[in-house]
Amino acid sequence: MRKYLRPRSAGIENRMGFDKKAFRDKFLYPIAVAIAIGMLALVWRFLLSQSSKEWIVSAFTHVGLWLQTPLPLWVTLSAALLVSLSIVVYRKLPSTAAIVEVPEHERKYLEDDFFDIRWRWKYQDGEPINMTPYCPIEQMQLSRGHAMTGSFTLVCEKCNNSYFIQYPDALAAQYAVRRMIDQKIRNGEWREAVAAKAERT
Ligand SMILES: [Zn+2]
Repeated sequence: MRKYLRPRSAGIENRMGFDKKAFRDKFLYPIAVAIAIGMLALVWRFLLSQSSKEWIVSAFTHVGLWLQTPLPLWVTLSAALLVSLSIVVYRKLPSTAAIVEVPEHERKYLEDDFFDIRWRWKYQDGEPINMTPYCPIEQMQLSRGHAMTGSFTLVCEKCNNSYFIQYPDALAAQYAVRRMIDQKIRNGEWREAVAAKAERT
């Protein structure tokens, strides 16, 4: 499962997982604010009820008395247990920052034939990278053959097949392959390539 997840940097919508930020913004913070306002209201009422200037002493006495009031042990224990459990559960929840589903084509569409050559690649942040040419017969990685003006060849050292590439250099050819991969991803043709690969193997 972890294998199929990647950081949110790619900007793809989260489709699963718990949105911790929304939980904090819409639930935790309003409750905290409500509690704070309630406390302020209590303090305000207490201040209004004090006629003399000695309200500070009185306030400390009140707080002191309240702190000395014993709580039943089971209340203390269950409150502590509840708080710890909530913290543990909250921390275990997957955060939307880490849990973003990888699109299907990034898992399945990893090779295709262009210029009669088999190309294999990986994805990084949703972009195909490391487009590498292979001999479609021997599954051997091709090496650089003759260079001409505006074109070059790739050669299989195993079967001596030579493949003509009408681009000035390897980088230009790789960019061309990337554009064709991108197009197939956009128009859905990549599924045909995946089906063809499944038939081969
Ligand atoms: Zn070959």
